[in-house]
Amino acid sequence: MTIWVLGDQLSRTHGPLADVDPETDRVLMIEATAFADRHPYHAQKLALVFAAMRHVRDELREEGITVDYQRAETFGEGLDSHFEHHPGDALTVVEPASYGAGERLEAMVDDRGGSLECVPDPTFLCSPEGFDEWLDSDGDAPTDVGDVRHEDFYRWMRRRTGYLMNGDEPVGEAWNFDDENRAFPRPEYDFPEPPAFEPDELTRETLAWVEDEFDAWGNLEPFEWPVTRTQALAARDDFIEQRLPEFGPYQDAIVGRSWAGNHALLSPALNLGLLHPTELIEPAITAYQDGHAPLPSVEGFVRQILGWREFVRQIYRRRMPAMAEANQLEATRDLPPLYWDGNTEMACLETVVDRVRRRGYSHHIERLMVLSNFGLLYGVDPAALNHWFHATYVDAYHWVTTPNVVGMGVFGSDALATKPYAASANYLDRMSDCCGDCRFDPDETTGEDACPFNALYWDFLERNADRLQSNHRMGLVYHHLENKADDERASIRERATAVRERVADGEL
Ligand SMILES: Cc1cc2nc3c(=O)[nH]c(=O)nc-3n(C[C@H](O)[C@H](O)[C@H](O)COP(=O)(O)OP(=O)(O)OC[C@H]3O[C@@H](n4cnc5c(N)ncnc54)[C@H](O)[C@@H]3O)c2cc1C
Repeated sequence: MTIWVLGDQLSRTHGPLADVDPETDRVLMIEATAFADRHPYHAQKLALVFAAMRHVRDELREEGITVDYQRAETFGEGLDSHFEHHPGDALTVVEPASYGAGERLEAMVDDRGGSLECVPDPTFLCSPEGFDEWLDSDGDAPTDVGDVRHEDFYRWMRRRTGYLMNGDEPVGEAWNFDDENRAFPRPEYDFPEPPAFEPDELTRETLAWVEDEFDAWGNLEPFEWPVTRTQALAARDDFIEQRLPEFGPYQDAIVGRSWAGNHALLSPALNLGLLHPTELIEPAITAYQDGHAPLPSVEGFVRQILGWREFVRQIYRRRMPAMAEANQLEATRDLPPLYWDGNTEMACLETVVDRVRRRGYSHHIERLMVLSNFGLLYGVDPAALNHWFHATYVDAYHWVTTPNVVGMGVFGSDALATKPYAASANYLDRMSDCCGDCRFDPDETTGEDACPFNALYWDFLERNADRLQSNHRMGLVYHHLENKADDERASIRERATAVRERVADGEL
C-alpha cells in the first residue's frame, strides 16, 4: 500500500502511519510550493509545515520505511513524478479536512492512471457520522445545523466520552465555570515563560530554504515552535505543569507584557497531527484529579478542545461551501492595510498585529475581540479577513479559520453565534492593558482623541439595525442607541465615516 501523507496529517499514533509496515507499505509525501505564490503566507507557517514534514520523512526512513518525498511546484507535478516510477499505483490518504479536497485529489490521481482511497480522519474525537447522528436524532438535540449550539454539542461530547463526568452529571456540578475565568492579572503577576524549541540542523536548513524560496510575510526568526512529536509532547508537558493551573482565570486577558499568557500554544502541533486531542485532554484531567490544577482551569481547557475544536470542524463540513462566501451583514470593504503593516495608532491593534508578525500567533481573545471585532465594526468583507487569518497564523487551515473568522469573528454566517461579537472600547479597556498607553481615549466616542472602536461600534449597530435589532440578545444595546439624541448620532456617524476613510488609507 502507498500511504499519501499530506502536510497536516503527520500523526504517527492514529491513522495509516500508526500501522505502517516497512515490508509492504510505502509513503508518499509531496512538498508543493506554488500555493504560497497566491498569498503572502507567514514565513514561520511555511517553515513549520515543511520542517515537520521533513522530520516525519526522516523518522520513517530511519525505521526502514520507503518514503517517496517529492519536492515540486504543485501536487500535480509531484504525482506525475510518483506515477512515472510507480505506474498504476493505489494510494491511500486520510480524508483531507479542506472542503472538496478529497475529490480533487482523487481526480488528480485518476488522471494519472492510479487510484486513491480516502480513509476516515482519526485525529478528531467526533466523527462526521457521530455528529450527523446527533443532529438528526429525535432526542433533545436540534435537528438543523443552523439551530445547533456549541454548549449542547459540548455536553453531548462530555457524556459520550465520560470526560469530567460523574455518571450523567458534570464533575463539580456545573458544565462550565466561565464566571471564574474572566479575571485580569495584577501587574505583579508573572506569566511563566513558554518553552522555546531551538531549531535542529534539519529545521535550520528548512528555515534557510524558506527564506530563499518564498516571498513570505512576518518574521522568520526566532523560530521556536515544536516541529516533531517529541518536541510537541514536551510543549504539552510544560503547559500542563506550568500554565494549566492558571489557564482559566486569565484566558481572556490581553496583556502587554506577555504574548502567550497561560495559553497552551499547542494548536500548531495539534493541527499538524503531531498530538492527538486525547493527549491534551487526559493529562489535563489527571492534573485536576492529582490536585495540580483547579477544575475551572481544566474544564475551560477541555471545553476548547473537546467542544470548540470538534464543533468548528463539523460545522465547517456541514456548512461548506456556502460558509466560505457567507456575508449575511453584506460587509464589502477591503481589508485595511494595518492588518499587513501594523501601522496604526490604536495600541491594541498595533500590539496584536505585531504579535502575529513576530510569531504567527496571538491568543483567542486577541483574534476575536481585537482583530475580528475591528473587522466586523469596520465592515470588512468576511472572505478577505478569512484569507488574512489563513495566511498569517501558524495554526491556520481552511477548516478552522473559516468557521472561526466568517462565523464567530465577523458574523458573516449565523452558524457559530446567535449575535455578533461586537464590542466597544469599554470591553478592550476592561480586558486589556493596551488603552493606558494608547493615544486614544476609550471613554470618548467622538472627537479626534476618541477611541475609533466607539464610533465604529455605534455606527455598526445603526447600520445593521434592520438585521440585528430584533435579536433579543441585543435588545439592551439597541435601547442605549435609541436613547442617544439625534445630534449625537449624527456626530457618531461623522466620526465613524472619518475613521473608516483614514483606516482605509492606512492613516489611523
Ligand atoms: C478569528 C479567529 C481565528 C481563529 N483561527 C484559528 C486557526 O487558524 N487555527 C486554530 O487552531 N484555531 C483558531 N482559532 C481558535 C483559537 O483562537 C485558537 O485555537 C487558539 O488561540 C490557539 O492557541 P492555543 O493553542 O494557545 O489555545 P488555548 O487557548 O490554550 O486553547 C486550547 C486549544 O483549544 C483549541 N481551540 C480553542 N478554541 C478553538 C476554536 N474556536 N476553534 C478551534 N480550536 C479551538 C485549540 O486547539 C487550542 O490549542 C481562531 C479563533 C478566532 C476567533
